[in-house]
Amino acid sequence: MKHSSQVQDLAQHLDGKRLLLSEIPLRKEVLKQVLKKGFLKTESGLETVGNQLKCRRCGNDDRTLFGKHVCARCQTTCSYCRHCLLLGKISSCQQLYSWCGPERTRPSVDRSLKWEGALSPGQKKASEAVRKATLKQQELLVWAVCGAGKTEVMFHGLETAFAKGKRVLIATPRTDVVKELYPRFASSFPQIVISALYGGSKDRQPNAQLVLATTHQTMRFYKAFDLVVIDEVDAFPFSYDKSLQYAVQQAMKQTASTIYLSATPSTTLLATPNLEVIKIPRRFHGFPLPIPRFQWCGNWQKAMRKHKLPSPLITWIKAYLQTKKPLLLFVPSISTLHHVSTLLAKLSLEHASVHADDPNRHQAVQAFRDKNISLMVTTTILERGVTFSDVQVAVLGAEKDVFTEAALVQIAGRVGRKAEAATGDIVFFHFGISKAMRAARAHIEMMNNEGGF
Ligand SMILES: [Zn+2]
Ligand SMILES: [Zn+2]
Repeated sequence: MKHSSQVQDLAQHLDGKRLLLSEIPLRKEVLKQVLKKGFLKTESGLETVGNQLKCRRCGNDDRTLFGKHVCARCQTTCSYCRHCLLLGKISSCQQLYSWCGPERTRPSVDRSLKWEGALSPGQKKASEAVRKATLKQQELLVWAVCGAGKTEVMFHGLETAFAKGKRVLIATPRTDVVKELYPRFASSFPQIVISALYGGSKDRQPNAQLVLATTHQTMRFYKAFDLVVIDEVDAFPFSYDKSLQYAVQQAMKQTASTIYLSATPSTTLLATPNLEVIKIPRRFHGFPLPIPRFQWCGNWQKAMRKHKLPSPLITWIKAYLQTKKPLLLFVPSISTLHHVSTLLAKLSLEHASVHADDPNRHQAVQAFRDKNISLMVTTTILERGVTFSDVQVAVLGAEKDVFTEAALVQIAGRVGRKAEAATGDIVFFHFGISKAMRAARAHIEMMNNEGGF
């Protein structure tokens, strides 16, 4: 085997990545040769900042998220990062390798977009802003209401980027989003090599021009991308956002542009210096966002302890079940979900339920989509990223902390998404109106206002 071809292989394998030695298939002599040439950069996996450990791969600097072990590699007691353990253990005696030899160029692909749909006026404006952001280094937020059609807003910008041989990352905290986006991009850009990365997926296209990845999978990339799109950046609590932000910072080239997509941007994001903001205040179909109603339902937890569901909720459910419209009922916790489910069964109200750890959740969601089930009880897992035609939505215990302003805006955003069923009911059943409930309603009213309603 010739060394030079192995060096080529290595360059390709490491292209835009930062990996542990165990992740690089190569012989020692080749490694020596490449190191001598100065083509490989090595950095310790864990660094010490002040007197604090920091993981270079995931950015974790939380003392409690480091472990100590008697290490077979260095024969001492050394530290390792628990936060990114899923990617393989990274200890203080290990190095991360990245390529710093001749840079690989990518082919320019002209007219790669094969999508022929039409953009709404709001989408058109945002699409132009995205295209501009791909041409000069910029941070852009596309603040699009639920149902505005934010994915299509990316298409022309991506086409421009591919025509210039640029490499693009679309990062998101959620595996579901990666899975949902992949077929849409694959059919819209048939000539572009695309890789979809999430826990358990295989990277079959290490040199893909477009990478769709979850937070964890983004952590393997290093100075790889000219354009980074971050979808659903607000989907998790701030701590989770923080590791996504770190992963993205590491994965992008210094000259890269960043585009954030969100219906409910956090105040932290909005405070980013030099952030350009473009809003799409109208839904794709042109109708306003449904405004949530507040319905007091008494001490519903106490009622449930006495094995009763609040009667305004039962009335609401029964009324809509008669109309044969699909109903989504959001509850604040998994234990409430089980309890509500038991009480609905006692009333002979047929339903299904889903939560994040539910292994059957994809089947249950499909059954609901196919209208084999009329009532679905859910935790916040279905608050975003799903469209059910003509769905009516209720929240039980809307005053609970888990229902933040963003969560409630997203939940309300499930209603009226289709042009043929553009309105619908959204009710917050509560035992005392919370600040978040008021803020969510004000948020929706503001967007409708800006949309000219
Ligand atoms: Zn780590
Ligand atoms: Zn060690």
